[in-house]
Amino acid sequence: MTGSSSRANANEASLLRVFTIPESDESTLSRIEKQMSEDLNGFLEQQIVAVQKPLSEIEQDFADSCIPEEPMWVSDYSDKILDTLIAHSVHTSSPRFIGHMTSALPYFLLPLSKMMVGLNQNLVKVETSKAFTPMERQVVGMLHNLVYQRDAAFYDQWMHNVDGTVGAFCSGGTVANMTALWAARNARFSAEGDFAGIDQEGIFAALKHYQYDGIAVVTSTRGHYSLSKAADLLGIGRRSFVAVDVDENNRIRVDELARTCRELADNNICILAIMGVAGTTETGNVDPLDEIATIAEQYGAHFHVDAAWGGATLLSSQYRGLMRGIERADSVTIDAHKQLYVPIGAGMVLFKDPQISTAIEHHAKYILREGSKDIGVHTLEGSRPGMAMLVHSCLSIIGRQGYELLIDKSLANARYFAELIRQDEDFELISEPELCLLTYRYVPSHIKRFLEGASEEVRAHINGLLNVLTRMIQKTQREQGKSFVSRTMLTPAAYNGADIVVFRVVLANPLTTPEILRDVLIEQKAIARQQLESLAPIEALVNGG
Ligand SMILES: *Cc1c(COP(=O)(O)O)cnc(C)c1O
Repeated sequence: MTGSSSRANANEASLLRVFTIPESDESTLSRIEKQMSEDLNGFLEQQIVAVQKPLSEIEQDFADSCIPEEPMWVSDYSDKILDTLIAHSVHTSSPRFIGHMTSALPYFLLPLSKMMVGLNQNLVKVETSKAFTPMERQVVGMLHNLVYQRDAAFYDQWMHNVDGTVGAFCSGGTVANMTALWAARNARFSAEGDFAGIDQEGIFAALKHYQYDGIAVVTSTRGHYSLSKAADLLGIGRRSFVAVDVDENNRIRVDELARTCRELADNNICILAIMGVAGTTETGNVDPLDEIATIAEQYGAHFHVDAAWGGATLLSSQYRGLMRGIERADSVTIDAHKQLYVPIGAGMVLFKDPQISTAIEHHAKYILREGSKDIGVHTLEGSRPGMAMLVHSCLSIIGRQGYELLIDKSLANARYFAELIRQDEDFELISEPELCLLTYRYVPSHIKRFLEGASEEVRAHINGLLNVLTRMIQKTQREQGKSFVSRTMLTPAAYNGADIVVFRVVLANPLTTPEILRDVLIEQKAIARQQLESLAPIEALVNGG
């Protein structure tokens, strides 16, 4: 039905139908639904246009600030968003989209998501979620078990307990990291004598009572920006967020960490937490967690591991060892919407000791009463959807062994791609894939050779020009719409700390084939050769020198 009059719904009877029966089986929305459930990827390939309008033009489609006065047919609305919204979305599940941490989704999540939305459970309290509450606690328990591997008695005691929780489900890694630091802060500055606790009296009174001159949170320069956001929000301050240098493999320098901690302690600064990263966002490296744990113990600091992206590696028997020491962390962040193949909006923080969660316990009169099983007692967020159901389904349907296959395949793909780059004399691998993330750039062989013999000054100049070229290649590749890699800027030790712009590739999509990877390099080379404006000044230097 293509409603000719947009006023069609403007009476109570037809408006109520919006809550009950669909307009018609031939409507645009039913057609979309059918297509999506038969072949999601085909639907997306078909609806998302490859060469898209610039953002400024898309903004014109969303420029009206008035709430539409009159109701509209669902079909008309669906037609409209197909052209404006869907067509210019990003095809994140494409096997050629290898630049970010979002990849393909298993098909069964689509109907299950629909069920989840239909049920519309609110996980903040049992009254609005019933069976979803124990289900979510089980999911968090399973991930806790993956990290800490405690015995059955531990989970019997704690998984459904009200005196503490083994972790908290949340919208993502940012909130998980924030929750971890919140618990650490409140546990460290807890009530004592006539001091009622930092949660009651605030930072100033806490420092006065505990006689510190400041608080610090320590991580590496590769720490995720959400950690400094957390420090900001918790009143610790971004300047109290101390970033320690990394080694040539982008891992925190343990000697520097020890030195930093000693200095802070000498200055009477409380080292609230040390944050290790298991899978850095830009290079995918894992900090030496075991050694960090020892230093954290020495200073009585809370040890948090941000494994938002890398944590899923624990599901692989072959690669689990890369995370050695994670089980010593007081808290761990894992995002299910990254390598667990769940849609966005699913993160978790896990607590080694469930009782630390009492430090962030909040009660209210009408819900979250003392002794209730309401999950909201221990979460930063209030109303939350039943996303845990999607994690639950993936863990059950894919299973530990299935995930192992997926993770091993991603890491093998990354190693294969690294090998392709190494063998191609026009590319340069900048960071090796420890997990399934790597960085590289395009440097034609004759320029590479020239760089080797060039003076420091000339090298810096050419690297600056190469940065422009890398940016242009990445931008053009994105605009052409065939494939996508992301880019970032690193300061690799091998380049004396110079800023180097690199392509960044994350190989988590199981449908990405070796052929696609070969094509990405071929496409980049072809684009590079057309960037005459960026190439000319480099060639002039190389030929003139
Ligand atoms: C993605 C990520 C985060 C942030 O998680 P969101 O889900 O985006 O909030 C934090 N830390 C690391 C290491 C990450 O990869």
